[in-house]
Amino acid sequence: MGIVVQKYGGSSVADAAGVKRVAQRIVNAKKLGHQVVVVVSAMGDTTDDLIELANEVSPLPPARELDMLLTAGERISMAVLAMAIQNLGHEARSFTGSQAGVITDAEHGRAKIIDVAPGRIETALSEGAIAIVAGFQGVSQTTKDITTLGRGGSDTTAVALAVALRADVCEIYSDVDGIFTADPRIEPRARKIPRISYEETLEMAAQGAKILHLRCVEYARRYDMPIHVRSSFSEKEGTWVVRAEDVTASTPEGNRTMEAAIITGVAHDRSQAKITVVGVPDKPGEAAAIFRALAEAQVNIDMIVQNVSAAATGLTDISFTLPRGEGQTAMTALARLQADVGYDRLQYDDSVGKVSIVGAGMSSAPGISARFFESLSDAGVNIEMISTSEIRVSVVVSESQVQDAVNAAHAAFALGTDEIEAVVYGGTGR
Ligand code: ASP
Ligand code: MG
Repeated sequence: MGIVVQKYGGSSVADAAGVKRVAQRIVNAKKLGHQVVVVVSAMGDTTDDLIELANEVSPLPPARELDMLLTAGERISMAVLAMAIQNLGHEARSFTGSQAGVITDAEHGRAKIIDVAPGRIETALSEGAIAIVAGFQGVSQTTKDITTLGRGGSDTTAVALAVALRADVCEIYSDVDGIFTADPRIEPRARKIPRISYEETLEMAAQGAKILHLRCVEYARRYDMPIHVRSSFSEKEGTWVVRAEDVTASTPEGNRTMEAAIITGVAHDRSQAKITVVGVPDKPGEAAAIFRALAEAQVNIDMIVQNVSAAATGLTDISFTLPRGEGQTAMTALARLQADVGYDRLQYDDSVGKVSIVGAGMSSAPGISARFFESLSDAGVNIEMISTSEIRVSVVVSESQVQDAVNAAHAAFALGTDEIEAVVYGGTGR
């Protein structure tokens, strides 16, 4: 039997009892004959608490020191988990990201993994020990400083280690039983998806589904590392994230053309805001100037809509969505442009939400958008913006209508189940 990498999220190790429960699961996997590598997140809300602490002592904590502070969260969980395992009579050794060979660039707070050299992990495994690795952290190749990979980054640590160790599978444990057709917290009829492609999972994650860290799915797709998403609170089979070919191959012949399979799931996102630049002169170069300024301010733009300009005035409106946390930066960058671009005014709206339907089958099925929009209209939900990809249709709606929109789309594509399947075991979904 080969190597298994297991990642446990913060809600799975929220307290001593959780740590002991997880330790027992790890020992069970080891007893089955696997070589086990565990990646662990900080206990419960530790990371949030540490960020709060930093903000209490400094309005703008230096990025290097913030990373040093935040990585302490995972140091606590890895050490106590190793202790709990040893208490069960099995050898376990904990390693920081740096000790585990997670090499990153020097971008504090959002470092990218550039290499994994897991020599010490391999040694521990070959000596029969269970290796416990602190998630979400690494060491910069150039500065030698400790870095973090961005919030939720432990998933990426786990996949990167699984790839470097040529593991059979990367198991990601959280507090739900897998990936569902919608967030069970707002759609009680959500159904567990047995298998889903990397591409669909990427779209779901990018559209706000709090299932997996986006970069971890990108990484898994690049190296074709199967991910098994499951709950640490139950023994149920979870969701397998695999290549698209492997999803179709496992679908029973008769089901492949079923409508239900066209849409895989509904994702929603309440973390966005919308900015409208009102009264932009309709001439070449204006949109370029606006989005150049936003790019220079490092603002991540999602949807963009430009209205047809009114013939009488020659003016148009440009709206776009962005993460709420970047709203202030974007407004400041745009305000500086007012004289140059000559727009009329800016509008900021942070009470918006985004709802998306995702499914590989939609590229060859006409009428999907129509059915989606009709379901929203029947539910009295007004659409503010629309965007699409080959396997996704997204709409921006008022935040207060997000749940109605999710429920309507879920029903319209017959995604629901009659028996309630989803159990939320605790925590925040991470
Ligand atoms: N503890 C970090 C966070 O809360 C990393 C993780 O949970 O994956 O963002
Ligand atoms: Mg966490």
